[in-house]
Amino acid sequence: MAFSKSVQRLGVRALGHEAQVTDVRRLSASVVRVELHAARCAGVPFAPGCKIKVHVGDGEMRSYTPARIDPSVGEMDVVVFAQGDSAASRWVNGLQPGGTVRFLGPGSSVPAPQGHEPWAGFYGDETAIGLAEAIFAALPPGTPTLGAIETLAGETSAVSHLPLVAVPRGVDVGAGLAQHARTVALPEGPGVVWLSGEATSVLALREAWLERGVPRDRLRIKPYWSLRGKAHRKTLERTVLRQEHIA
Ligand SMILES: Cc1cc2nc3c(=O)[nH]c(=O)nc-3n(C[C@H](O)[C@H](O)[C@H](O)COP(=O)(O)OP(=O)(O)OC[C@H]3O[C@@H](n4cnc5c(N)ncnc54)[C@H](O)[C@@H]3O)c2cc1C
Repeated sequence: MAFSKSVQRLGVRALGHEAQVTDVRRLSASVVRVELHAARCAGVPFAPGCKIKVHVGDGEMRSYTPARIDPSVGEMDVVVFAQGDSAASRWVNGLQPGGTVRFLGPGSSVPAPQGHEPWAGFYGDETAIGLAEAIFAALPPGTPTLGAIETLAGETSAVSHLPLVAVPRGVDVGAGLAQHARTVALPEGPGVVWLSGEATSVLALREAWLERGVPRDRLRIKPYWSLRGKAHRKTLERTVLRQEHIA
């Protein structure tokens, strides 16, 4: 483990980009929007839904999704959920304007919108706020949207900039999202729905949308973490979601 952390540290130093932190803003108590300026990334193509791998200290890397990108100047925002006393939480809670961040990427992760859609849905949790923003910004103007983001109770302000319902998390993680998916009124036509956030919730959402008659090839699925740990998320992506995986 110590060896792999050393390799990660060397890798991000040799191959990564350095970015300046230009702004840090709390969208809620535990959701932080970080604006970065990476001069060397000016002109680098960042597709909506791509990921970067950020060095959060001590050789630890974590994946994040640029919420907003201005490739003309190498500027991007990431929206980070600071959960518990974790490496990523300590990192983001310690960021200040003027600081630096190193990251690898961009790498492909979630399929971006492909032109006109009759409507678009998005479901996820705090970790997917940046993804929702990137996807919605890439939809043709006027596309009807629907969906929900689950947040900690009392932190629904984290979603107020998005055209999505904020669902406070109850004891049963993801239950409110699945309920919303089962009952929301649908516009006419074959929509496309992005599902992200916690892995077990994503599976339940996938079931809910299949039951509503949205075919699998209209679902864009990418679990970002799992209550049962990273190995569980990876296993799901290799097994039940593998043959279905789009990108
Ligand atoms: C492609 C991709 C893009 C991502 N983009 C974003 C993004 O834009 N913003 C963002 O906030 N996250 C994003 N994530 C999720 C983020 O990388 C993980 O949540 C990461 O594990 C957080 O690191 P940590 O140091 O907090 O916890 P870790 O040290 O990785 O894990 C410690 C413990 O916390 C648990 N845990 C991990 N994440 C959460 C969580 N969200 N809530 C509760 N418990 C958790 C783990 O299961 C483990 O038990 C993305 C993940 C992927 C795969």
